[in-house]
Amino acid sequence: MVLGIFRCALPASLPASLAHLLYPTNPTPRVSNMATTGATPGSFTACSHDGAEMEDGFVAIERVKQMLGSGSHSLVVFLDYDGTLSPIVTDPKAAFLPEKTKVTLQRLAGLVPTVVISGRAKETVRNFVQIDDIIYAGSHGFKLDGTAQFQHDLEVGLDHKDILTAGFSRLEKAVADVCGAQLEWNDLCFTVHYRCVGEGEQESVINRVRKIVEEEFCVGKWEGGTPGKAVGLEVRGGKMVLEVRPSIDWNKGMCVSWVLEKMDAALKKENKMSISLYIGDDVTDEDAFQELKCKYGGLSFGILVAKDGGKGLGRKTNANFVLDSPVAVESFLAALADTL
Ligand SMILES: [Mg+2]
Repeated sequence: MVLGIFRCALPASLPASLAHLLYPTNPTPRVSNMATTGATPGSFTACSHDGAEMEDGFVAIERVKQMLGSGSHSLVVFLDYDGTLSPIVTDPKAAFLPEKTKVTLQRLAGLVPTVVISGRAKETVRNFVQIDDIIYAGSHGFKLDGTAQFQHDLEVGLDHKDILTAGFSRLEKAVADVCGAQLEWNDLCFTVHYRCVGEGEQESVINRVRKIVEEEFCVGKWEGGTPGKAVGLEVRGGKMVLEVRPSIDWNKGMCVSWVLEKMDAALKKENKMSISLYIGDDVTDEDAFQELKCKYGGLSFGILVAKDGGKGLGRKTNANFVLDSPVAVESFLAALADTL
């Protein structure tokens, strides 16, 4: 067994097959703790690197192939939905999976465990994807349905249902007068969409939502809960959306880690360990990129979906690789499936 130690950002040029495990010398706080540390989204202080330094996503295929060739690894693929598998569309209800991507995804899911992880309710994503062999994780990883091969289900944050319902109702009324603003219920979180709101009013919607959540629904502010039980909501930004979710230490990254721990426990009997590949396009996917980089190092591949190699991203990322669009993601997954 070879253990590798890296100080901060994993050098992209370090061949992943050199070490079986890579550890950071100074693990960083979880991104989900930002609300309590006062940091703001995009202000990653460690394990980050500039988007311009990322490698083309297709490079990762050759590295995955090399690692699988050793016979001691097994691949798990995690895929975000909106903006990754499906193009971003004006109407969130019309974010259908392109037929070509569905065929490719079906092929991939027949070869390796494949997880579709989204901020949407898992039933919503399942209805868009409609493939049986997929593991569906919804509500930013708060809920997950296993498959015949991966017989584990997950539910986190169920005690926040009441505050989520109250927050949804309050915010729905608060933006009712704004043309184009719409709320989407995602089971254990919800989304405020402002893509169709006029440019002049978008900032007002953002400020209104953040102010209401901060003043009425933060931990300790809401009076509707069970006495003695602290519940609260928090807001995360995204692509023309605000994600409102339970203020607890759980996110896409921790869900991914939970899945990999279950996978590794099963693989241990065969003297194998998992390697993972995560593809996502938005801020909440950074939780997964960071978790994989800091916990799994060279055993993971974080791929960001962003135009122009991520140059216009406007934030730092913990992904090591980049793909241009959902069309490129389909080509990547097809090429990956060809090598398996
Ligand atoms: Mg997305």
